[in-house]
Amino acid sequence: MKLSFRPYTLQLKRPFGLAHGTRSTTAIVLTQLEHKGIFGFGEASLPPYHGETQESVMNFLSKLQLEKFENPQEVTAILKYVDATATGNNAAKASVDLALHDLVGKILNKPCSEYFGVKTNEKKYSSYTIAIDDLKNLPQKIKEAKDFKILKIKLGTHDDEKIVHIVKSETDKKLYADANQGWSDKSMALELLHMLKENSFEVVEQPMPVDCKEDDMLWLKEKSPLPLLADESVKRFSDLEKAKDLFHGINIKLMKSTGMAEAYKMILRARELNMKVMLGCMTETSCAVLAASHLSPLADYVDLDGPFLINNNPFKNPELIDGCILPSEKPGIGLEL
Ligand code: MG
Repeated sequence: MKLSFRPYTLQLKRPFGLAHGTRSTTAIVLTQLEHKGIFGFGEASLPPYHGETQESVMNFLSKLQLEKFENPQEVTAILKYVDATATGNNAAKASVDLALHDLVGKILNKPCSEYFGVKTNEKKYSSYTIAIDDLKNLPQKIKEAKDFKILKIKLGTHDDEKIVHIVKSETDKKLYADANQGWSDKSMALELLHMLKENSFEVVEQPMPVDCKEDDMLWLKEKSPLPLLADESVKRFSDLEKAKDLFHGINIKLMKSTGMAEAYKMILRARELNMKVMLGCMTETSCAVLAASHLSPLADYVDLDGPFLINNNPFKNPELIDGCILPSEKPGIGLEL
């Protein structure tokens, strides 16, 4: 197998307003695995707060000697080798995992969903993220989400109640919230959770900072009127056991989990632990989002809006049918160039 890669920069349709500043681009690295003339595609998406850069990803990928694996179907052995090459580098590892699953799917002439044994008959609606912005821009953003049936509202600002008020006056869609670690005080967090419950929100992501006191999260989880999902607090499989006491569920993203194989394992384990599962994404192209869509029938909440938030997707946009991104029936990820 031969691995190749190149850096690429995604242009966001609208700059992201976040607690740590605004952002109008996201760096990614596109990967390609070739075996006997068949190509598998992957990507690493690199939001700055995760610490990976195009340089670190390309440095990691340059170290890999995938030529030594003659049979791409040795997926477990290959991914074990990739993971053992260095710690961290989760998105870089995901870019190999994705390309490998795409390649193997093509070799076996099976879509990735079938490879993982996922039944795709149930429709899962994806949410569309309404990022933090000037309050006056929110109505326009909500209009832009017209093709989606669910909105995920970013909170964690001083204006959370105002944001919710505007959202409720503009739409009667299903609503999720993401506080992005923005509520540092547990009593205030609980008040806001009740406010969201009264405004018919269904679920809340990462209410408090990753490094908050564990006792505070335990307290909040016990009293919360809404299910609380860990996003920043859970990256990989090994983070699950601790999260089960502090959260009702987890937001699994391929770029955190090192790809599809571990994301799949995390979903199964989360189910054993009676945890809810959201399948989310970073700012990504169709590649990673279509890959995730193959696992989406296993999730309670699907948040795969990445390619719809960018202007320069290098691949064909995923097909959005009635607010759902259906897993492709084509072999592999089903990416169209
Ligand atoms: Mg989040």
